[in-house]
Amino acid sequence: MNVHEFQAKQLFAQFGVPVLRGKEVKTPKAASQWAAKLNTPVYVVKAQIHAGGRGKAGGVKLVKEQSQVPEIAKELLGKVLVTHQTGPKGRKVRRLLVEEGANIAKELYLSLLVDRDTGWVVFIASTEGGMEIEEVAAKTPEKIIKEAIDPAVGYQGYNGRNIAFALGLQQIEPAVINPFVQMLGNLYRLFMEKNCALVEINPLVITKEKTLIALDGKVSFDDNGLFKHADVQKMRDLHEEEPLEIEAGKNNLNYVKLDGNIGCMVNGAGLAMATMDVIKLAGSEPANFLDVGGGATKETVAAGFRILLKDKNVKGIFINIFGGIVRCERIAHGVIEAAKEVKLKVPLVVRLQGTNAEEGRKLLVESGLKLDVADDLWEAAQKIVGMTGKAA
Ligand code: GDP
Ligand code: MN
Repeated sequence: MNVHEFQAKQLFAQFGVPVLRGKEVKTPKAASQWAAKLNTPVYVVKAQIHAGGRGKAGGVKLVKEQSQVPEIAKELLGKVLVTHQTGPKGRKVRRLLVEEGANIAKELYLSLLVDRDTGWVVFIASTEGGMEIEEVAAKTPEKIIKEAIDPAVGYQGYNGRNIAFALGLQQIEPAVINPFVQMLGNLYRLFMEKNCALVEINPLVITKEKTLIALDGKVSFDDNGLFKHADVQKMRDLHEEEPLEIEAGKNNLNYVKLDGNIGCMVNGAGLAMATMDVIKLAGSEPANFLDVGGGATKETVAAGFRILLKDKNVKGIFINIFGGIVRCERIAHGVIEAAKEVKLKVPLVVRLQGTNAEEGRKLLVESGLKLDVADDLWEAAQKIVGMTGKAA
């Protein structure tokens, strides 16, 4: 789960990571009232969407006059912001962060994440802050500094000093080395205590007053740890999530929306991945990943089928079930029930194998639904791709 910048900064403040005075507002009036309270030489108005690259896209505005704050707020609220991370559809701005400005002397990059190879939490830092870190990593990999934290001992002062000296803080601004080392310890605590998946500060700035400030903030959480953190759960913003994924979550379905046009309903993550591969191999693209799981009931299958049909990109559906724990006739019942409610206008290819496959196939064929049955995975994939056309 991701949260907004203003929420990331609330967590930073809680854990002793320095941020500027700021507040989330939803109306120009609230922006104006808060600006009056802030009463500062420079105001920063920032669009709150779950995507970076807002600066370049016009979602971060600096103004000197307090009276301009509500004007900027009016301009940004309701606007659809398109950044390199939102995709062409963009995201609607519903909230703003109004902050005091900072005097930036130097922008750094800092993040924490889990290294999948070692399972250790790793700090990533760079002197090239404010930029797209992927670009820095591709063009100048030597400017990316990594420091892994041994989970047996946790963060130690020397970890922070290693990073500080690798960044050259002794040349850039020695006064910030100690606060930097302390700040990294606080970030590590935040990461561990809240079960984070990513904490990113880009830019982390050194000000002309020789202080450190987290000017931006991105925090993602491990969904499996969310049940432990009621405070974090409250930060969820459903506007920022894919509606079909929210609906799938309510039905305990593992669904991820993708860009292709063949809707897939599969049981088991491994078979779901293999199905997506085979669709690609046959010349098309999957519209989603959907694992109905072992405990699938008629109801969850029906819910999954409805979700597939709600995706406007779906030009055909491929049901690929290997009945082990889940029985094939249950899947058939679910599909028939959902197809009765929603008029099925796209081709459907079904491959059922395993427990009660015969019975399931019979139910489907006798249901009067327009569908094709296949025994073999490759044959099934070619059939559905043949009916929907190859991807461009
Ligand atoms: P992003 O583009 O979505 O990553 O948004 P950021 O929060 O990183 O803001 C983009 C850029 O705006 C930063 O890299 C800064 O250069 C600039 N910026 C943000 N806040 C301030 C501020 O208080 N003062 C100044 N001078 N620049 C700021
Ligand atoms: Mn940023």
